[in-house]
Amino acid sequence: MRKAIVAGNWKMNGNSESINELMGTLIASLQDLDAVEALVCPPAVYLSQVKSLIGNASIALGAQNASQFESGAYTGENSPGMLTDLGCQYVILGHSERRAIFGEKDADIAAKFNAAIDAGLVPILCVGETLEEREDERTMAVVGGQLKAVLDACGVESFAKAVIAYEPVWAIGTGKTATPEQAQDVHQSVRAIVAEYSAEVAAGVRILYGGSVNAANADELFANPDVDGGLVGGASLKPNDFIAICRAAA
Ligand code: PEP
Repeated sequence: MRKAIVAGNWKMNGNSESINELMGTLIASLQDLDAVEALVCPPAVYLSQVKSLIGNASIALGAQNASQFESGAYTGENSPGMLTDLGCQYVILGHSERRAIFGEKDADIAAKFNAAIDAGLVPILCVGETLEEREDERTMAVVGGQLKAVLDACGVESFAKAVIAYEPVWAIGTGKTATPEQAQDVHQSVRAIVAEYSAEVAAGVRILYGGSVNAANADELFANPDVDGGLVGGASLKPNDFIAICRAAA
């Protein structure tokens, strides 16, 4: 039995005041939701603030990125050890914005994945195709390639301590969501790829869907057998929407 996760990726949004307000509503409304792991991923500079707001509430904390290095002369970077020190349990890695805007390659993401596992963080590995790649019928070649790059570099056993997020690039922040069938098809294929390495790890790994998930479409996306929750961008900044999405995963 895989416990669903709903992760909010706040991206580079918010300030101290808006975060106090957002967290206040989430904490008050999610306390009885034991069936779902609710996770918030604020910008790194607000991790400590969010950690102290969470207190004993059952909301997990994640970062949006981490360095592959432990410490040293890497200006502007945050190491996985620093993130665990601040109370993070999860880290999003390989988000399509990191790949497209900041030029992260599969090898960088694999190095970060390894470093995160070593520091005790649970990586959420994002994979996904562009619209052009989908139209060229290369979805699984691209998604499979991104996944296998990390499986080969880090070993399938590390996926027993990781989460995968399928995020079609054409659905992120666009209001265009994959249909439940499109999502299930890719999720099932992603699980099958992991099963080529280990059937046991494949059966246990949680695969989240991300890409314009909202309160209206979450139910039908999460009803798919291989969709174990969501990675939510825009709607995670709207407390009532995020709460509804968390409840849809229960
Ligand atoms: C994301 O950034 O991971 C994401 C899925 O964004 P949105 O929900 O806004 O499409």
